[in-house]
Amino acid sequence: DTIGDNLDRTAARFPDGEALVDRAQGLRYTWAEFVAEVDALALGLLDLGIAAGDRVGIWAPNCAQWTLLQYATAKVGAILVNINPAYRTHELEFVLNQSGVRMLVATRSFKTSQYAEMIETVRPNTASLETVVITDTDAWTSLFVREGDLSRVRARQAELSADDPINIQYTSGTTGFPKGATLSHHNILNNGYFVGRLCGYTEVDRVCIPVPFYHCFGMVMGNLACTSSGATMVIPAPGFDPALTLEAVAAERCTSLYGVPTMFIAELALPDVADYDVSSLRTGIMAGSPCPVEVMKQVVDRFGMTEVTICYGMTETSPVSTQTRKDDSLDRRVSTVGRVGPHLESKIVDPETGLTVPRGTPGELCTRGYSVMLGYWEQPEKTAEVIDRARWMHTGDLGVMDDEGYINITGRIKDMVIRGGENVYPREIEEFLYTHPDILDAQVIGVPDQRYGEELMAWVRLRDGVTELTAEAVREFATGKLAHYKIPRYVHVVEEFPMTVTGKVRKVEMRETSVELLG
Ligand code: ATP
Ligand code: MG
Repeated sequence: DTIGDNLDRTAARFPDGEALVDRAQGLRYTWAEFVAEVDALALGLLDLGIAAGDRVGIWAPNCAQWTLLQYATAKVGAILVNINPAYRTHELEFVLNQSGVRMLVATRSFKTSQYAEMIETVRPNTASLETVVITDTDAWTSLFVREGDLSRVRARQAELSADDPINIQYTSGTTGFPKGATLSHHNILNNGYFVGRLCGYTEVDRVCIPVPFYHCFGMVMGNLACTSSGATMVIPAPGFDPALTLEAVAAERCTSLYGVPTMFIAELALPDVADYDVSSLRTGIMAGSPCPVEVMKQVVDRFGMTEVTICYGMTETSPVSTQTRKDDSLDRRVSTVGRVGPHLESKIVDPETGLTVPRGTPGELCTRGYSVMLGYWEQPEKTAEVIDRARWMHTGDLGVMDDEGYINITGRIKDMVIRGGENVYPREIEEFLYTHPDILDAQVIGVPDQRYGEELMAWVRLRDGVTELTAEAVREFATGKLAHYKIPRYVHVVEEFPMTVTGKVRKVEMRETSVELLG
């Protein structure tokens, strides 16, 4: 199946069910209306001469237009290029050229008024770019061909293969420059389907999606999971806003809520959190970075998300490769990333030798199966560095698998700290710091040290009303509870961590800043 075929089937099954709600713009579509809009837009793309394999960029925060374009490009076989809403001219130009974008769709409302101007700035340097459409203009409206002959769209759909590339998604850029993962219908449609199935989605579910569409968390685990099950996509706001998110859950009676850990932390920290009626929530997904056990517990207890699951994955694997199941014990659901997903394989290898390690031994997590990307767009050497000849994706993440196949992510290979010859996993110390009453959020990194090679530094955000926390106090709190070499030498109090737009902490930047701080 292609994504377009899958959408058509859902629309035929649930024509009157609600497909999409965009709260900021007050837009609502049933599946019948949604597919009609998608078809009209697909016809418009055909009229513009968009061929299968052409790259169409989308530069916008979450909005209905994003989703319509996602499905319309899939119907005509164009490759959607997700452009990070936080990009500025330098990165925009890079992405447009790297993926050879022919048509670019961008917003100018929702705090993106500068986009049109930035596009004009880079245009002289982007040879492939022919058409620019701004969504709240006549150009966008006139793209929809409502009276045309849909058999042209059907004919194009029928020519497409599920193995065709359909999407280029740039990785978050947490560890360096983003890379363009090229994904097929088969990759992402199946991933959305299985994620939705493990969440138990049916047409009665309503999924609140505050995570960005430009990332697979939003467009695959969100949108594609909904289209393949008939569940409703609810867009609470263009960008993440904790209050608007909980408001959307309450007003739309959402049954599922998504977020990276920092989003749930922000929602739980709202002073009036108890005033939102979130009793409709049944499940949700926390993913994207290590999910603190404390936060998972609160999501279950205070939001009533008793079936909440943790997913682990990466853009290169469409993204999800492991997920907790609702019948896993609560302990496992909050403390592991679950087991490998249906029709996928996972293994843990020694990063040096490449050999599988015994259960219980940490090593690099590798994934194989339908979800592994076609490759990095036009970067065969980079692809060969991560996908080996047996088609295993080497994730760069450290994990441990227990006897029953449950996996724990202990960190990224690049984030592991080696202090005086001891391997220290920042994750473990972060979990510990969360138990300190004054600490709202904690991140641990390694900083260069003359004596030990590396020393540990904790960056912490304090709870409301707490103004100070010294390194001495933290060390005292940890003494007797953590081995001496795991106790952070330095503590740095901050308001916010440096973040990617996907809500991930940029440890690379924290390390650079720390080196300067320590002078
Ligand atoms: P880049 O590859 O550009 O440095 P990135 O790896 O953050 O950025 P993504 O593909 O968005 O880009 O994120 C995948 C990574 O996120 C994984 O490799 C892993 O490190 C982390 N991750 C995702 N889910 C989890 C989880 N549940 N627990 C721990 N880490 C997770
Ligand atoms: Mg990565």
